[in-house]
Amino acid sequence: MESVMFISLDHNLSIQMKPRKTTEVGGQVVVDPERDIKFRGAYYETAEEDEIDFLRKHACFGSRIFEGVIPDDVVQVKQEVATYICGFPKCKFRSFTEEAMDEHRQEEHSKAARDRKRQEALDAEDAVPAKKKKSKGKAA
Ligand SMILES: [Zn+2]
Repeated sequence: MESVMFISLDHNLSIQMKPRKTTEVGGQVVVDPERDIKFRGAYYETAEEDEIDFLRKHACFGSRIFEGVIPDDVVQVKQEVATYICGFPKCKFRSFTEEAMDEHRQEEHSKAARDRKRQEALDAEDAVPAKKKKSKGKAA
């Protein structure tokens, strides 16, 4: 694999790779150790296929992160600089501090947040009168 140079508008960007890659070794699921993609200044060069794939699929790819070269029309529009970008798929959250990013992850991507969103979705479903609720098969 040839190495690819990525260029970010946000300097010293740190992106936590999500979802964590898991591999099965002898019937046991092994989660890969935590790995962050850390840009040096505007640049990050990698030959790791999964990192290249991850960055190319990132929500900010094409708008804040570029491969090889930043398009002229982006350079001409002066943009503010953030340091952290959320690594979750389809999430475009950016922040200037690690604390704000941690807070965002807690708010949006933690288990508690997922449970809350699931409950909100269920509540919304209950609010639709035409839809019949299915019994879960438990005797009352
Ligand atoms: Zn996010």
